[in-house]
Amino acid sequence: MMNDTKTYNFETGVYRPPSEGGSYSLLVRFTRNCPWNRCGFCGMYKNEKFELRTPEEIKQDIDAIAAICSDLKDISEQIGQGGKVCHEAAVALINKIPELNYHQGFPMVYHWLLSGAKTAFLQDANSLIMKTDQLVNVLQYLRKTFPSIARVTSYGRSKTIAQKKADELLAICKAGLDRLHLGLESGDDEVLQLIKKGVTAEGHIKAGQKALAAGFQVSEYWMPGLGGKNLWENHARNTAHVLNSINPHYIRSRPFHPWPGTPMHDAIQNNEFQMLSPDEQLHELKLTIQELDVTANVCFDHAGNYWKDRHGSLLFTHSYEGYKFPQDKQTVLDLIDEGLKAGNQRSTFVRL
Ligand code: SF4
Repeated sequence: MMNDTKTYNFETGVYRPPSEGGSYSLLVRFTRNCPWNRCGFCGMYKNEKFELRTPEEIKQDIDAIAAICSDLKDISEQIGQGGKVCHEAAVALINKIPELNYHQGFPMVYHWLLSGAKTAFLQDANSLIMKTDQLVNVLQYLRKTFPSIARVTSYGRSKTIAQKKADELLAICKAGLDRLHLGLESGDDEVLQLIKKGVTAEGHIKAGQKALAAGFQVSEYWMPGLGGKNLWENHARNTAHVLNSINPHYIRSRPFHPWPGTPMHDAIQNNEFQMLSPDEQLHELKLTIQELDVTANVCFDHAGNYWKDRHGSLLFTHSYEGYKFPQDKQTVLDLIDEGLKAGNQRSTFVRL
């Protein structure tokens, strides 16, 4: 029997890493907003209050998503599409339940099913803040409800990971969380203090190593340009040092762009922080890459990696798998030299 719209209700948050959008991940909201919310460059959750969600609430959301999936398949049978999730089935379901036209999560679930229903991302900014037994419980429920899912990922704060016991991290990984996206931003203590990251370089290393030891795939985001004109060199060298000490699976560049309304933006307006030009950022990037000694995929998949070559094309591939180090290290260094020859004077990145 077809479900009514009430059972379709579930929450989604706004943000997810670029790689989870491209793979059409199912977005399941485990917590609301960010429990730290103090990073000086970040405006994502500035006016939002952090809230934990109960396992019951999250399971109700998972049930609602499962109801949409099963009703799409049922209606597909009824209209002669053999149970296949397809455009015709989606239209038929919307015709039957017009409220789905305004459902914030229906297109996401539909595209997730179309793409094979293989990956899921736990929203919002730090799911690991949940009590371990509750996180394990809900993860197991998610995996049981959707056996097609091959990869589950989440954002996690280094501080939170470092505070979890090794056997807790092991249990979370075993329950089905495969990959952690960590906001490293910098490996330099002065920069980390400036941006109020709430963790030291040592804390980042400890967290990254603990996550790897527990069996997670670790994806570390860093921010070229975050040291500005004063700290760029230490930022580059110490970030490479921290990344070398962790040796994560993925290293992802998310260049610094000031977000209006944030403390870093104010500092620039007040002349307390001097931004690097795009060319200077490339010089910093060159030093970071030269210093990297890792076996990792180095990726430029964020839209902020705007540098161009002499033909006006993007300098780096925005592929989610990026460049395999160490073998592609020279390729990346050659590309940076190409970008420097092209003369990247102006950022063309626009935050939407
Ligand atoms: S931890 Fe992440 S989401 Fe929270 S304020 Fe910092 S950058 Fe933003």
